[in-house]
Formats: sequence, C-alpha cells, structure tokens
Amino acid sequence: MNALAATNRNFRLASKVLGIDSKLAKSLLIPFREVKVECTIPKDDGSLATFVGFRVQHDNSRGPMKGGIRYHPQVETDEVNALAQLMTWKAAVANIPYGGAKGGIGCDPSELTVSELERLTRVFTQKIHDLIGIQIDVPAPDMGTGPQTMAWILDEYSKFHGHSPAIVTGKPIDLGGSLGREAATGRGVLFATEALLNEYGKSVSGQRFVIQGFGNVGSWAAKLISEKGGKVVAVSDITGAIKNSQGLDIPSLLKHCKEHRGVRGFQGAETIDPQSILLQDCDVLIPAALGGVINKENAKEIKAKFVVEAANHPTDPEADEILKKKGVVILPDILANSGGVTVSYFEWVQNIQGFMWDEEKVNKELKTYMSRGFKDVKEMCKSHDCDLRMGAFTLAVNRVARATLLRGWEA
Ligand code: GLU
Repeated sequence: MNALAATNRNFRLASKVLGIDSKLAKSLLIPFREVKVECTIPKDDGSLATFVGFRVQHDNSRGPMKGGIRYHPQVETDEVNALAQLMTWKAAVANIPYGGAKGGIGCDPSELTVSELERLTRVFTQKIHDLIGIQIDVPAPDMGTGPQTMAWILDEYSKFHGHSPAIVTGKPIDLGGSLGREAATGRGVLFATEALLNEYGKSVSGQRFVIQGFGNVGSWAAKLISEKGGKVVAVSDITGAIKNSQGLDIPSLLKHCKEHRGVRGFQGAETIDPQSILLQDCDVLIPAALGGVINKENAKEIKAKFVVEAANHPTDPEADEILKKKGVVILPDILANSGGVTVSYFEWVQNIQGFMWDEEKVNKELKTYMSRGFKDVKEMCKSHDCDLRMGAFTLAVNRVARATLLRGWEA
C-alpha cells in the first residue's frame, strides 16, 4: 500500500470511529491546494538541469499550513500528499494552531554542489512565493534540507515581500531561528518515549534501543536517549549499519560521523547487514529514516516490544496489524515526531513577538506539549477502546473537524 493510501485509510478508520459524516470526511481529505512546478537551473558546468518541485497544502482550518521541504529522489505527488496530510493531523495532536502542508523537490542533494542547491532553492521559492506566507503556509526543513536551505528561502521570499523571518522555521539562529530547534524532533522523541515507557512502569534508563537512520532526528534521539541511560545497541544510515550489544558509545560515534560522513567504519562496533537493522534484538525500535520500512515481509521478525515512529509513516497498515497481534506497542508518527513542528511553532511565535526565548524555556515548553499530546491520545484510546495510532488519529481528526464545522462553508 503506498503512503497516501495508508494515510487515507487511517483517516477513514478514525472518521468512522468518530461517526463523521461522509461529506465532511471528503472535504477534510481533499487537499486545499496542490502545486507542481518546473525548476530548471544551470549546473556549475554550464549544462541545464530540470527538477520537479511540489507544495501540497492540505488543510488550514486550525491555522496557517505548516510542514517541511524535502529534497530526495522519492519526492513525488502521492508521497508529498501523504506527508502534507500527516502534518495536519500532527499539528492537531500537538494542539498547535496550524494546518498541514509539505513540499519538496525530486532530486538527490548529494549529487548537487552547494551553489547548485542554492540556485535550485531560489528557483523553487520564486515559483511558490505567492502561495506561501507567514499566515498562509510556513515551510521548514525535512530530509535533505536544513537551516541553510531555510536561509535561502527566507532571502528569496524577502526580495518579493520585504524582510520576513517568520516565513520559514528551522532557520539559522543568526536569522531568527530558535534555540533548541535543531534538536527538537529528537528531543520530542525522547519525551514521547519516556511518557510511553512510564505507562508500562519502565524508564529509558536500562532499555535497549535500535535506531534506523542517523540524520538529524536519529542522531539527536540517540544522543539524548544515551544521556538518559538508555543503551543504543545498533544504528544505521545510508553508509551502513553497526551494532554493539554492550551499547554504542554515542559521543564517539557522533564524532566519527562528523569526520567520516556516516556510521560506517566506526571502531567501537561490529558491522551488520543494513537489511537486518529493524530485526535486531532490543526493547525499543526507532525507525528515523524513510516511510514504509516496516512492512508485511519484516514485521513478523521484529523483536522489539515498542516501536517509536520518529520517521513519517514508517509502518505499513499490514505491518501494523501483524505487530499488534504480536503485542508490540507502536507510538505513532503524528505523536512521536511532533517535537519538530512544535518547536517550529515556538520559533514562529518568537519571530512574530520579536522576542527570543532561552533554550531552557524552549525545552521545558516542548516537554509540556509532548506530555500533553501523549495524555490526550491516551484519553482517546480509552474512550474509543483503540490503539495509540487510532487514538492519535481520532484526536486529530476530531479537532480539525470541529474547527472546520465552526468556520462553516456559507459564502
Ligand atoms: N519536517 C518536519 C516534520 O515532518 C517539521 C515540520 C515543521 O517544522 O514545520 O514534522
């Protein structure tokens, strides 16, 4: 099942549980606006290269639409639509005043130079600048993009609309970015994991973790989990996979990754088959890379008792069923990885107020939001007798449906 079909399915199940009228459900499902733009740039060697850029704005009933910009070869219409819709539900679970959007460019950023990436980002911004806005749609980083990408978008957008720091979040601190934003998704994963484990009378300390993906989210999660006494026993990234049953030395691994641009070759571990990362023996499995990685082929062999979805839609619906039957508890993406967009909201608030928070305040507020999100989801699970994914979806769909009904449709 592709990402969009899977996301639509979860939405439909939640609408059914909530008894939402089919006409309202249709209006909630269809995106507010979808754009697809041609982005042609001269490469450094003078030749031309054309890429396709996307921005899908899914829903704006609760506020401006919000979501990342992804640079990856797998960026295409259905994937971006699924991710935009997930942003709507994610912002609603976190109870921040945003709707959902997502965008990106189908490209392999590792094959482009910094100046080519800058030109591509500027061309893309020129094509979408009149569709985004501080109170309309606010982009942020995602896979393959980061603070520098946001700085270029800010600069290009400001040429048309005047200096506008709040047009993007996840910007460099020097341009109005928030302290704590870079670590936010990983820190949110830690807070959500703590809340989940507490429910089962456990804590992060002493648990064994496996993390798939060692980019921004996976590496921050690993660092913060190990600082709390969690044992990270295996990790992987595009360069390979490594394992140490005694627990990896995360500070040394982070140093190694900086020097060698990946986990491969790390001395304090054995190399394992990257295909086996999800099947390693552990208590908590954290997929923190691409979607669809847990599927009906590998779900049966997963040994973890808990799966914390740091990635967006890492678990196929078929795998969801298999894991549920095995008694594996899944903390769903729209709750587990909502720390990033939550601190994006704090960044936007700081930009609008023109007042900068210290990092302690950012992290404290993030903990409050993540704990509240978990508590609200648990309450939905209790009232609808459902798992955490349906708890999160019913919570989100109910909030968005209420806002939509209150605003009405009459011209
Ligand atoms: N790209 C991140 C996500 O998938 C963050 C989005 C944002 O901060 O707007 O949640």
